[in-house]
Amino acid sequence: MLKVSRRQFFKVTGTTLASSSLTLLGAAPAPAMAEVRQYKLARMTETRNTCPYCSVACGVLLYSLGDGAKNAKARIVHIEGDADHPVNRGTLCPKGAGLTDFINSPNRLTHPEYRAPGSDKWERISWDDALTRIARHMKDDRDANFVERNDEGQIVNRWLTTGMLAASASSNEVAYITHKVVRAMGTLAFDNQARV
Ligand code: SF4
Repeated sequence: MLKVSRRQFFKVTGTTLASSSLTLLGAAPAPAMAEVRQYKLARMTETRNTCPYCSVACGVLLYSLGDGAKNAKARIVHIEGDADHPVNRGTLCPKGAGLTDFINSPNRLTHPEYRAPGSDKWERISWDDALTRIARHMKDDRDANFVERNDEGQIVNRWLTTGMLAASASSNEVAYITHKVVRAMGTLAFDNQARV
């Protein structure tokens, strides 16, 4: 039962009987109040990921619109530090905190491009074509320049004409496997984006 004094009644109804006024009168039950104050990210899809910028590799939470329905277009609208991540425990530096703008930037490159020798323009190619081209170039270069023995006849098995730059956001396991693959091919020039 509502408990409203005469003064309260005239004060509120004299202006408006909108929902906020009903709340002041005590007519809005707690669930209705809670609905008004709903958590802004409650209906979004949460995805865990790693900030790609530097070797600290902070954990981030990506929040996207779209519930997977046929016509719903997923779009990342909010990113924040992952409080459960052991590296950053929810914090992000200014670069990481600006990831939403980076992801939604119209200038962001989202597909491989190729510029033919002598050409003045880049052309879009598929990921399959890009990987095939890279593999072809690596194989040809290694076949032509692999050094099995040095001048003294010692076995060196090295490939000096191609280098590898690895990603700084790799996990320990990915970094370990990348290192094994690169060294197995004989590559000596091997560095990490974390130092760039
Ligand atoms: S949030 Fe900052 S410190 Fe953390 S990985 Fe990204 S760039 Fe590095």
